[in-house]
Amino acid sequence: MELIDSHAHLDDTVFDAERDAVVSRAAAAGIRAIICIGTTAATSERCLAIAAQQPLVFAAAGIQPNYTAEALAGDWERIVAMASRPRVVGIGETGLDRYWQHADFATQQDYFQRHIELARTLDLPFIVHMRDCDADVLEMLRAARKLGPLRGVMHSFTGTLDTALECLDLGMEISFAGMVTYPKSTELRRIAARIPPDRILLETDSPYLSPHPLRKQRPNEPALLVHTAAVVAEELGMQPDELGLRSVQNTLRLFSRITMAR
Ligand SMILES: [Zn+2]
Repeated sequence: MELIDSHAHLDDTVFDAERDAVVSRAAAAGIRAIICIGTTAATSERCLAIAAQQPLVFAAAGIQPNYTAEALAGDWERIVAMASRPRVVGIGETGLDRYWQHADFATQQDYFQRHIELARTLDLPFIVHMRDCDADVLEMLRAARKLGPLRGVMHSFTGTLDTALECLDLGMEISFAGMVTYPKSTELRRIAARIPPDRILLETDSPYLSPHPLRKQRPNEPALLVHTAAVVAEELGMQPDELGLRSVQNTLRLFSRITMAR
């Protein structure tokens, strides 16, 4: 099976001792590319450094909503500077989060808007984190859509079916992570079954939330994406290989700066 892990925090220190092995296991499991997603200026720079060393790895640069309050003067300028580097393929992760309340909401909205505008200026996709704030995210996406087409992905989607369908209408793609495999996630699987196969991306969001049946494995890693692919494929009535290929095509269409050796 061929897959792309469209969202992994490969820069996480939990991988420091075995990052090369993690990437090798991913390649052996059919992972053709991994997008290493920044959450701060510093982690975005780490992602870019990893992408410079590992042919399989690409980077996204951004400040995740929960880290916006602690962003220092100059951090946003570091993101902007990184965004034009060749192995940076997307802007994010960005978005909004009402669950953790690490950053006040106006600050989160300010940064979300900056990421959307930067992505549009550079014609790059943006990566949206949305937790317990479907209505707030939709409001900002609708406003942005009025100014032009949207190019982005709702990462590790856990919103409602209505939100998913409106995001698709707005031009966003939907990405599923390990959560969709959990026995209790029947509603999320019902949503997955309703997403057109040409609009689906897959991700691990590693090192977090390993997929069933390896949920106890810590940390999660890109090689485990095959389990998520199998569950989503079943919901869509597709063979895992077929979904894998479609999701690779979808990811390459969205993250068009990814260049893979064939
Ligand atoms: Zn993430």
